[in-house]
Amino acid sequence: MKILKFGGTSVGSVESIRTLAGIVRSTLQEGQRVAVVTSAMGGITNCLLEMAAQAEAGSDFHVLLQKMEQRHLEVIKALIAVKRQNPVIMQLKIFMNELEDLLQGVKAVGELSARTQDSIVGYGELCSTFIVAQLLQQDHPDARFADARLWIKTDSAYGHARVNQELTDQLIRDAFRDNPAAVFCITGFVASNEKGQTTTLGRGGSDYTAALVGAAIEAEEIQIWTDVDGFMTADPRMVSKAFTLPEISYTEAMELTYFGAKVIYPPTMIPAFEKRIPIVIRNTFNPSFTGTVIREHAHRNGHLIRGISSISDVSLINLQGSGMVGRTGFSGRLFSLLAREGINIILITQASSEHSITLAVSPKDAANARRLIAAEFELELQTGKLEIPRVEDELSVLAVVGENMKHTSGVSGKLFNALGRNGVNVTAIAQGSSEYNISVVIRKNDLAKALNLVHEAFFLSRIKTLNVFYLGVGNIGKTLLRQVKDHEAYLLEHNALRINMVAITNTRQMLFREAGIPLQQWERLMQEGGEPADLEQFISRMKAMNLPNSVFIDNSASADVVNHYASLFAASISVVTCNKIGNSGSYEQYKAFKAAVKKHGVNFLYETNVGAGLPIIKTLQDLLVSGDKIMRIEAILSGTISFIFNEFKGDRRFYDVVKEARAKGYTEPDPRDDLSGLDFMRKMLILARDSGYGVEMEDVEIEPILPESCMQATSVDAFFETLLQEDAYFEELKQRAEREGKVLRYIGVLEDGKVSIRLQAIDDRHPFYALSGSDNIIAFTTNRYTACPLVVKGPGAGAEVTAAGVFADLVKCAN
Ligand code: ASP
Ligand code: MG
Repeated sequence: MKILKFGGTSVGSVESIRTLAGIVRSTLQEGQRVAVVTSAMGGITNCLLEMAAQAEAGSDFHVLLQKMEQRHLEVIKALIAVKRQNPVIMQLKIFMNELEDLLQGVKAVGELSARTQDSIVGYGELCSTFIVAQLLQQDHPDARFADARLWIKTDSAYGHARVNQELTDQLIRDAFRDNPAAVFCITGFVASNEKGQTTTLGRGGSDYTAALVGAAIEAEEIQIWTDVDGFMTADPRMVSKAFTLPEISYTEAMELTYFGAKVIYPPTMIPAFEKRIPIVIRNTFNPSFTGTVIREHAHRNGHLIRGISSISDVSLINLQGSGMVGRTGFSGRLFSLLAREGINIILITQASSEHSITLAVSPKDAANARRLIAAEFELELQTGKLEIPRVEDELSVLAVVGENMKHTSGVSGKLFNALGRNGVNVTAIAQGSSEYNISVVIRKNDLAKALNLVHEAFFLSRIKTLNVFYLGVGNIGKTLLRQVKDHEAYLLEHNALRINMVAITNTRQMLFREAGIPLQQWERLMQEGGEPADLEQFISRMKAMNLPNSVFIDNSASADVVNHYASLFAASISVVTCNKIGNSGSYEQYKAFKAAVKKHGVNFLYETNVGAGLPIIKTLQDLLVSGDKIMRIEAILSGTISFIFNEFKGDRRFYDVVKEARAKGYTEPDPRDDLSGLDFMRKMLILARDSGYGVEMEDVEIEPILPESCMQATSVDAFFETLLQEDAYFEELKQRAEREGKVLRYIGVLEDGKVSIRLQAIDDRHPFYALSGSDNIIAFTTNRYTACPLVVKGPGAGAEVTAAGVFADLVKCAN
């Protein structure tokens, strides 16, 4: 025997009722005996309650009444054969007339008793079940309408009546025994008291009806056909990677249901559990899916926990004071007070010092609970034994649930690690000693993020997602997007890393897409769906989204962007950047970045600030963490200047070389921006600071390459003029060097915490002598690299290598 229960959406439309009939048919074809339990058509119970309220208020309820009739008529007309429709429509009319009489009565006396309300709402199940029975009868003559009011006997607690188990069991068993072939179609939800008056089993109570019937006749299975695939690892509306659980235990189902998963009506579990009858959750809208089996012992499935659930709105009440320490009876008074007043306590924690108790309650109860507590403990408050209770709002509870947590270590470690690493603050913690559930109270703002983090930690730790916010799609920015696109699949496969591009902006437009911007199409999507760019907004939305593992990539050279870094760190967002304005600004700012990064446990990676993708920052940091001491850094960190002095030899004029460099695109539009050495100086500053020296821009001793007249020139053309006029000066430099067998190099030096940048003539014993093209070179002389320095050399500019450096930093954020 199988009990098939169909919920409101499963009988909510012609289409779904047709599916229902198919499901019943194929179960019967398996040779099973079947009983069907049905809810009211989706929305009808609420509609009935509303009509009752209208009637009580003396308003007209006929519009809704007609709507209700219409919905049922539609189903009859669509599904019942024409020649059989009349008696069915007749019965519907009878139900509707009875209902109208009841409502009319309520309207006349202007009063709605709980008893009458139950009689009224019961018509939802009567109508839907009657129609389903008639429909099934077309194929199965043994199908039979069964009014559960004749079987399920309760007390008179209208609205949530308690079942007389023994009598109910007997009545159900008798009915099934006396009609061995019948396919009963049983009204869910409704029951009756000893006087035969209609009662109901509580909202969602049709599941319970199914369990009562199943338990009475010891069915082999109770199927709950609903509109979801079953129990999931987490709420799929908040965790897109949640998946359905094939199996869970009764206890786990209870725990998950308590915290929000509205898959099944919790009391349903009790009769099923007592008789060890499995409950199977199935989806009418995905009938081939196997769903979730709830049974006594669910198999271990390789995960530490079974699922994560949450309550999105709670308030905490904190009670504190010496009056509680070592006192028996205090909590007794507290809890009986709240129970008496019907205030449900969601969670309790008490420290072993007994100095404080924290309660979580629904926000609608918080103010009332606080007032009641203050009244009850007035004396303790007056004598200072208790402090005035504090209420904290805007909180949520997240709970990890699973029977296997028992005696398994590492569950809470994993939970708190996931939360802590991403700046989710935990306000209160509770774990029952049953160890089926660990609950944490967190800020409501953090809930979605926390659910995803915890889900990732427990279920998908193999794959990590970085949520990327991307600023700047110029030369480097575009190149990097292409590199990421080409390498995405590889990272997923080999590094278990998913890069989710949440937002992209340039100075004109911005595009947000939480599920990820497909990188093949970002340009098109930006053109079609982009909004006008706004840096402030971009930043504040990035923070408000509060996504786990967020990384901000700054491909700009803008100081405005840098101003936001500190607040991003504070929001647990990592920053990866080639923008060197940040680290080469004031030393105070540099230090503030480092401190914020440390405090909030985020990444701040800027390898490309110096020498593009060359491993310079990393090398320096590795030397330092491994205990080496930097004695001297020598470097050529301007590709442009490097090129110019590599070419400035033989009979070439300085003027011609600079012209060529500009023509080749090696210089800024105004070559003085490179030749002034400012950019070079910024890089040296960053190296000095990373080496531990608090150097400011003004402290750098810089010897200009260009004579004063060149710097004074008011246009680029005029500048080139002065280069020609000063030709003798450059010639003299070059010839003197060549006479001595030397070459000219513009070299930055860090020694004893002092930075200088000078034009030097060096001979072939110097490691920079043989430098060619536009390469960068850097030599670290350290305690360990003394006689011969550690040298890093290679192209230190260009979109391809710079983007690659940013990319490598991004990937590091995943570790
Ligand atoms: N129709 C009732 C309700 O909506 C009972 C049920 O659907 O389970 O609460
Ligand atoms: Mg329902």
